[in-house]
Amino acid sequence: MTGMTYNNSYDVAAVMLCVSCIFYFLMSKRIRHFKHTLYAILCGCVLTGSLSNIFAGYFARIHHPVAANLAINTYFLVNVLTMCVFGLYVQCMNGYLMNRHKKYYLLYSIPAVLAALLIGANFFLHFLFYYDADCRYVRGEAFLLMHLLTVFYLVQTIYTIIRNAVFVQKQKIIYLLSGLGLVIAGIVVQMLFRQLQIQLFTEAVMLTLMSIVFENASLEVDPDLNIYKRKVFLDFYKTVCDLKSEMTLIAISLVNTEQLLSTLSSEEKAAAFRSVCEKLSKLVGHNNVYTYTTEKYAVMLERRNVRNYNIVENDFLIALEAMFNQSWSVGDKKVFFNALVTVIHLPEDAESVTLDSIFHRGRNLNFVDSNMILRDHKDVDILRKRTRMLNAVRRACENRSFLVYYQPIWSVDTRSVVSAEALVRMDDPELGFIPPDEFISAAEEYGLISDLGEIVLEKVCEFCATYHPEQYGIEWIELNVSPYQLGDANIVQKFAKILQKYNIPVSFINLELTETVDVFRNGIFEDTLRQLKDFGFTFSMDDYGTGYSNLANLMSNNYRTVKIDKSLLWKATDKEGMDFLMITVNQLKSIKLQVLQEGVETKEQLDIITAFGGNLIQGYYFSKPIPDREFIAYCKGRAVLP
Ligand code: C2E
Ligand code: CA
Ligand code: CA
Repeated sequence: MTGMTYNNSYDVAAVMLCVSCIFYFLMSKRIRHFKHTLYAILCGCVLTGSLSNIFAGYFARIHHPVAANLAINTYFLVNVLTMCVFGLYVQCMNGYLMNRHKKYYLLYSIPAVLAALLIGANFFLHFLFYYDADCRYVRGEAFLLMHLLTVFYLVQTIYTIIRNAVFVQKQKIIYLLSGLGLVIAGIVVQMLFRQLQIQLFTEAVMLTLMSIVFENASLEVDPDLNIYKRKVFLDFYKTVCDLKSEMTLIAISLVNTEQLLSTLSSEEKAAAFRSVCEKLSKLVGHNNVYTYTTEKYAVMLERRNVRNYNIVENDFLIALEAMFNQSWSVGDKKVFFNALVTVIHLPEDAESVTLDSIFHRGRNLNFVDSNMILRDHKDVDILRKRTRMLNAVRRACENRSFLVYYQPIWSVDTRSVVSAEALVRMDDPELGFIPPDEFISAAEEYGLISDLGEIVLEKVCEFCATYHPEQYGIEWIELNVSPYQLGDANIVQKFAKILQKYNIPVSFINLELTETVDVFRNGIFEDTLRQLKDFGFTFSMDDYGTGYSNLANLMSNNYRTVKIDKSLLWKATDKEGMDFLMITVNQLKSIKLQVLQEGVETKEQLDIITAFGGNLIQGYYFSKPIPDREFIAYCKGRAVLP
């Protein structure tokens, strides 16, 4: 019989759960976000619902039909609102709300408004449900209408989950669906067994789960920087890319942190980074700033919904530049941060650029005019090309598909080919044949040079073990080693292992080095150089006459050969150029170094360098770099040269 009193224990439990959820919500410090606002509203709804259900029962028991009706109408209204807000919350989580216009929210709220109107009318007309004069609960003819509205929101919510399922982490979907399942179970049980007023309790349990899984501030806010964590950014970025939402990513990488921070204590360091994040949050809203790493931050701005969008973006960039051009006070010190800022328009720009390359700080950035360097569309294009190049190098490293060509080196004394320079080549399935000048620097920049170098050495050793070039008068092979490879502490062991594997004597490999300022600065270069030397390697100094290479370094006794850069030879067309070349050769020979001239293309050039006393010659005049078998054929055919 319908007039019996219900057991309200479940509602009391629901009230208690809601109150703890609200308490937890208020206590934890989080970044303001629409999602959290919705969660708070949701807690309020379930709390109001449970309380009104308790009151409805109570007033019915004490035979106060008006109050009971007021409570029961509130209960049903809140019921629909709960589903409405929960639906919005879910759509916030699964990216369905991203870039939505106001219109969407208006349409979405129509059933809720309808529910409010119906309930308002029901209070007087009693066509849905009511307590009669004896305080007995009666269902009206149109009772199912209320359930229809609830079901609408349920269906819509499930639809958005399925619709965006591919874009969202599986874990999130499982949590969302199980929460939803719990509530549906509650509704069904309550429909079937009316004494079990369990629906609000299941909703409160769901709120509790949500507060642990989704609303846990410590899961999303970086405790040191007080902005969103990297994980939150990566998830969001992925969702934006998957949904092809129109967003702008502004990647901010602090560049000079290492130099700066050597003067700061670890607390000061943390404070410095934190104050940068704080300023960023102030400029663009806490909600839009994310951690990429401790020294790199992301700002994400919605594009479609903001009117005068570009003004917003430009304003921000101008403010950003002003911010970096001011000093930061850390303790009693003042520091300047140099920042590399990259603007990426999603989704179009994201194609074939990785986040790592967007945030990559690169080398040789010039912060003379400003403490901020801005990379825009044009630069992103370069970045994209570079990323393609990087991917090609990665592929080639993985498949060990680099080719090694050999360029003969001719001895003036014996008038025969005595050596060859091993030169790496890359034939990429996507990008085709790429010259080393383009991909070596990419490999150096992204830390792949060490792998590349090892592969080249291994190919060279394999070549020597297969063709025995020593049979054709080849006394050694010149192998290029990038200065960045010398940063690899294990290079000696790695090289030793490869030589051993193919049984190649260390004296058969001569390493070519180009000394550059930025590597030479930190003692690693000399350290590794000494280790390689102790192991038995000999060295050539490459590209002599350009850049950093100088006589002082050569006197250090590390080098056997000096390769004079082709530009010096090519400039020897007038007296001045000739003199310069001659003096250079004489200088080098006076300190007992073997002189190798590269880039000899003509008979005249050959005559000049021979006359000046060069020992070894390399250049197109003899041969371009050629594949291994061709090189062997070349040696066979020309054991002695003109
Ligand atoms: P490099 O060490 O100065 O090598 C000489 C470059 O000059 C080669 O270019 C060679 O093909 C070219 N060359 C030789 N003779 C002539 C000539 O008579 N005329 C002209 N115009 N060019 C000549 P390549 O093979 O394109 O290599 C470019 C650079 O890439 C090399 O410059 C070297 O720095 C780097 N590289 C090549 N292979 C490797 C490698 O295995 N490891 C590393 N780390 N770097 C490499
Ligand atoms: Ca070289
Ligand atoms: Ca060279």
